[in-house]
Amino acid sequence: MPDIKLICFDLDDTLWSTKQVMMEAEKQAFALLSQRASIIAEHYDMMSLFQARLKKWKLLTADQPQLKYQVSQLRRQSLALVLQDHDFNQAEAEQLSDEIFQCFMHWRHKPVYFEHTEETLAQLSEQYQLAAITNGNACSKRLGLDKYFTLHISAEDLGVGKPEREPFEHTLKHFNVKAEEALHIGDNPSDDVWGAQQAGLHTIWYNPKNKPWEESEYTASLEVDQLNKIPAAVERLQANLQMKS
Ligand SMILES: [Mg+2]
Repeated sequence: MPDIKLICFDLDDTLWSTKQVMMEAEKQAFALLSQRASIIAEHYDMMSLFQARLKKWKLLTADQPQLKYQVSQLRRQSLALVLQDHDFNQAEAEQLSDEIFQCFMHWRHKPVYFEHTEETLAQLSEQYQLAAITNGNACSKRLGLDKYFTLHISAEDLGVGKPEREPFEHTLKHFNVKAEEALHIGDNPSDDVWGAQQAGLHTIWYNPKNKPWEESEYTASLEVDQLNKIPAAVERLQANLQMKS
């Protein structure tokens, strides 16, 4: 039975609280936008602007399904479209939207890590190759996590995201590792567990709130509620695999 050689991690809600970091990033971006465009502050608060952007986001993806995984582009374009509803011409709207996006991304990269994140990654990286696979636009390199992750795969760059097989297959190919020698860890039952299983990888469901598993068609190889339990879980998985072989 092959040894586990590669461990892939989801990022959002696996290494940090997405809601927490996104709320702060939205707040900072809205504050800057209010300074730059007082007409926006007169019409919207943060939540109603979010709703207006979401409508544009849905129109954009309905029109151009290929944008589905392009979350940065959707964010920029949806705000630009809202601005154009308020007397900004296209060039002005795009320029301001880009500026607001840069502010958002600055704060997007200030997450508060879950307990044990860095120590767990440091420990695992001594024994295994590590990769980050995300559908979001947080960059592990910008976060300084590239000292642990030797590969960062984003749905934006690849043009396709989890739960499709491509991000996983692309990662396996990069490391020249077989699917049964790889393990993916993430919080999302569909994207992370089902998706990785479809590509043949072992899976760990990261379930910090100890929620019940609700899928009947598939189940993760293992489950952990704290990141520092991952090294022992990987050893357990390895032992199980050896017993079966
Ligand atoms: Mg996640």
